[in-house]
Amino acid sequence: MKTKIVYSEKCLGYGTWHVEGPQRVKAAHEVLQAKGYEFMEPTPANDEELLTIHDADYLFNVKKGLVEDSDTPAYDNIYQFARLSVGGALLASKINGFSLMRPPGHHVGRNGAALGVYTRGFCYLNNIAIAVKESGKHTLILDIDGHHGNGTQEIFQGDEKVVYVSLHQSPNYPGTGNFTEGNCINFALPANYGGKRYLETLDKALGMVDLAKFEAVAVSAGFDTHQGDLATLGLVEQDYFEIGKRVALLKKPAFFVLEGGYVGEKVGLDIDSFLRGYEENL
Ligand SMILES: [Zn+2]
Repeated sequence: MKTKIVYSEKCLGYGTWHVEGPQRVKAAHEVLQAKGYEFMEPTPANDEELLTIHDADYLFNVKKGLVEDSDTPAYDNIYQFARLSVGGALLASKINGFSLMRPPGHHVGRNGAALGVYTRGFCYLNNIAIAVKESGKHTLILDIDGHHGNGTQEIFQGDEKVVYVSLHQSPNYPGTGNFTEGNCINFALPANYGGKRYLETLDKALGMVDLAKFEAVAVSAGFDTHQGDLATLGLVEQDYFEIGKRVALLKKPAFFVLEGGYVGEKVGLDIDSFLRGYEENL
């Protein structure tokens, strides 16, 4: 059965001039629509859900538009967009679906910027962290975005219910995740690392996890590792099929939350490839 895609066109309503702009998700949606995926509309997360991860002061500041840094603007109504994106992750977690929403979330910690980084990398609320926390399940978070999810690591570092695994380009933003720290397994890889070596490294990383402890897998699904994208590891469409296959072979219920990936049409094709790899190997 095809994985359902969680999507609302409301997420296209901000930031047309920014690299994290609406076109990336709009074009991906069009590709997935043409491929026959079914879509479900999310509802915004409420404050209680957001407070499981974020501090009240930080939420207040996002709500009032008081958080702005050089890469993450205080757009009008960004709080409404951000909590709808969290709602996408929450729904994806419940239906084992794929949340095709923006803004992304993995660079933001409890109070904003995380692990000593001073910008929030286009993120406002940590979608996947809130969905994992709300589920209450022992979860393996696999972050395949090309940037290290410093926010997600900061939130779950030392948390016995979660293992965080990330493969990312280095050097690149945010500059964290250069080594494994406790329950946060990091592989910092050079640009254009290539699919073959990437998949070998992914196998090694997943081999370090005691799978018996986990009830679920949550994937921070970024596609900026694609050849020529913002954190390229030189991956091509077929490599995402292989990544999806490896998630299926973990034999746990899984859900997926979009992070980066900045060439919309390619993002759509990569998501389709990833989900086919996943579904064909369940
Ligand atoms: Zn990224």
